Amino acid sequence: MERLRTLLTSINGKGYKAYKELKGSYQFDGFRLTIDHVQGDPFAQPSRITLQRTSEELSLPAEFYSSKIRKLASEDFLARAIAIAIRSEIKGHRGIGKSGEVRIETSGQQILGRNALLLDDTCVEARLTVGLPAAGRRIVSKEAEAIFFQELPNIVAQSLCFEHLDKEQFKQHIESAEDQEYLRDQLRQLNLVAFVADHSLLPRQSGIDDRPLQNNAVPFIAPESLACTLTLPNRGKVRGMAISQGVSLIVGGGFHGKSTLLHALERGIYNHIPGDGRELVVSDASAVKVRAEDNRAVSNIDISAFIDRLPFDRDTSRFSTENASGSTSQAANIVEALNHDATLLLIDEDTSATNFMIRDDRMQQLVSREKEPITPFLHRVRELYRDFDISTVIVMGGSGDYFEVSDTVIMMDAYKTADVTLKAHSLIEKANHHPKPELPMMINHAAPHRCVGQLNPARGKKEIYIEARGVDTLLYGQHEIDLGRVEQLIDIGQTRTIGLMIHFYAKNYAHKTNSLNAGLKMALKEVEEKGLDILSPWKIGTLALPRLHEVAAAIHRLRS
Ligand code: ADP
Ligand code: MG
Repeated sequence: MERLRTLLTSINGKGYKAYKELKGSYQFDGFRLTIDHVQGDPFAQPSRITLQRTSEELSLPAEFYSSKIRKLASEDFLARAIAIAIRSEIKGHRGIGKSGEVRIETSGQQILGRNALLLDDTCVEARLTVGLPAAGRRIVSKEAEAIFFQELPNIVAQSLCFEHLDKEQFKQHIESAEDQEYLRDQLRQLNLVAFVADHSLLPRQSGIDDRPLQNNAVPFIAPESLACTLTLPNRGKVRGMAISQGVSLIVGGGFHGKSTLLHALERGIYNHIPGDGRELVVSDASAVKVRAEDNRAVSNIDISAFIDRLPFDRDTSRFSTENASGSTSQAANIVEALNHDATLLLIDEDTSATNFMIRDDRMQQLVSREKEPITPFLHRVRELYRDFDISTVIVMGGSGDYFEVSDTVIMMDAYKTADVTLKAHSLIEKANHHPKPELPMMINHAAPHRCVGQLNPARGKKEIYIEARGVDTLLYGQHEIDLGRVEQLIDIGQTRTIGLMIHFYAKNYAHKTNSLNAGLKMALKEVEEKGLDILSPWKIGTLALPRLHEVAAAIHRLRS
């Protein structure tokens, strides 16, 4: 600690590069500070540091990390505690560029596996970034001293000490995550695909703010006929709406809350923080939102179950394009989801291609089957469930055609939920028409293998160039991958990880199997077991764990 002070004094007023001398470890009173990487200039990516405390210093009770999910929730809580302490302790601006800026990466409304803070039996380690202070590119030691000797020790004392944390809140954070995980694990054996607990608050502040809507949010209440009561390890009994396997429709007038419910189901693959309102909205872990995504690239996907007989006899069993249409992109999205073992598809009419979803009687009479390449999803959705065990939840306010292929029809009426299955089914008998029979569906499970050459991360002089420009854009070697319409990707840390993971897969697994799905699974399993750190040669704290589906989505969107 005194060594750091002496070093700082000795480099005061020197050129910025002299900060490099600080690299190394320093024992402080009650924690260890390591300066892992020093930035090249005040405007560059801030320097990376780690703060370590022993388990004794942290004094976290053993039950707070006695299982995988508990440990993950504790890590999440502690990282958020550091972020709160940073807001209260860090002065911030201390010179030019990023001088004085201190950060830790945390999740939004979800609890994601990250590497910003790691717990093990012997210690806790937090990775932060610090903008080392400069005035006119000269070192200002006084300002750096204030960060290292006042601000950081205060942060550690406030956040990495169990005694000083809100224990009730901490416990609730863990127990809530554990309940959500448990609930999600139960779904399959209960023949359910999703569960929405009573009193959940589904609407969000806005399209770009994932926090709960503050005023006038109507709490969710399950209609009696769809209600079930489950028992959770911590919360005990909870009543809520059980969405069964099969085909479920969400109907209702415009602006009545249909998409909001579906959106909550999309996010139900993640655990949420207490107070989010969706803590007990869970869906099958392999649920995939599929939508139309015109202009996306498609490479070697068999979409013939949905699209065949394209003009000029284009082969749709190995369909590639640099510029998919609404319907072909939605078909590709579905087939890719199935190739990566999705068992629940979530579809919203708002983001679907109409000609992919439905074709009504009149249109079938006018345009004969031979002239229409599209087999609408309507004609496949039952088959998907019957023959492949794949369930679907569809928001469909605009067409009653889906009544006859549905098992359950849920109506949203002014944000209240009703079961209108019987009524919807009684309308089918009156109209008495059935979807036209089709050739049986085949799913070609051999997801196309990307040759390693296409996954080369080199760009120019750089052997490895992988960078996330926001959640939506991944730069990978020569490629710019657009993930803007991969809606279950929620955090830039996941996007970064996806980039590193593609490289990790290409290096270690691509040659081991012909199946992209199998290779990615092995790669992801290794990362889950050994931790996100294996993906980076440097110590960084900016990664968050994505699902298999989102990693695969990035690979499938590579342009050739
Ligand atoms: P739909 O898909 O049926 O057209 P949306 O789900 O888009 O409707 O919801 C319309 C609006 O109502 C959105 O602004 C949404 O935030 C709001 N909303 C949705 N559910 C609720 C609710 N339970 N309470 C209050 N407002 C809600
Ligand atoms: Mg809608």
